[in-house]
Amino acid sequence: MRKPIIAIDGPVGSGKTTVARGVAARLGYTHIDSGAMYRAVAWETLRRGIDAGDEAAVTRIAREMTLRFERDAEGRQRLFVDGEDASDAIRTPEVSRVASIVSAYPGVREAMVAQQRALGAEGGVVMEGRDIGTVVFPDAEVKIYLDASPEERARRRTEELRQRGVAAAFEEVLRDLRERDERDRQRAHSPLRPAPDAVRIDTTHLTVEQVIDRIVALARERGA
Ligand code: C5P
Repeated sequence: MRKPIIAIDGPVGSGKTTVARGVAARLGYTHIDSGAMYRAVAWETLRRGIDAGDEAAVTRIAREMTLRFERDAEGRQRLFVDGEDASDAIRTPEVSRVASIVSAYPGVREAMVAQQRALGAEGGVVMEGRDIGTVVFPDAEVKIYLDASPEERARRRTEELRQRGVAAAFEEVLRDLRERDERDRQRAHSPLRPAPDAVRIDTTHLTVEQVIDRIVALARERGA
């Protein structure tokens, strides 16, 4: 019997990555950031000088590229694209913008979802994204939908960028975040929305530890 799967979905800056990493550490599970995979497609698109609007060319990239997750000495997840460590390169605002565009292409999603299902096949994973509980693992034992006010999410994202040495103005981050959310929610294929059976957690006034505690408790109830 496979171990439980914990699906965590939510919009930009809802705290998915920090929380998913914490939950995985507590349970001894593997953390998989599915957004990094869409970012990798965007990065490769930019690197090859391909127009993000060229759906056929971008889809070909998504089908042909090899993605591999590895852990470094500190236990942090690194992502290799065709053998090259792209973990830092995929975290720029430009890659965010292009990822948001190319992730709407059905062919790109099919290629990524197939890999996500393979990565989670044995369970014991905490996978974060936009469609994990609705499309990738509709039978996941635990489904969480994280949210927070747009202002709080923009504040967190601005701080995170600042800590990585990327200058970003709050207003600009807020605008960009609303735009990406809108695209994720409105797209025809796998839009961002809570699964009907997802537990919704508004993290606006909660600490990271409180959110992790709640999810770990739920996971334990469901066999983790
Ligand atoms: O989570 P993150 O912001 O890194 O994801 C980058 C982009 O990839 C998102 O803006 C979203 O459009 C897309 N994405 C997606 N489905 C997922 C994860 C991310 O469409 N499961």
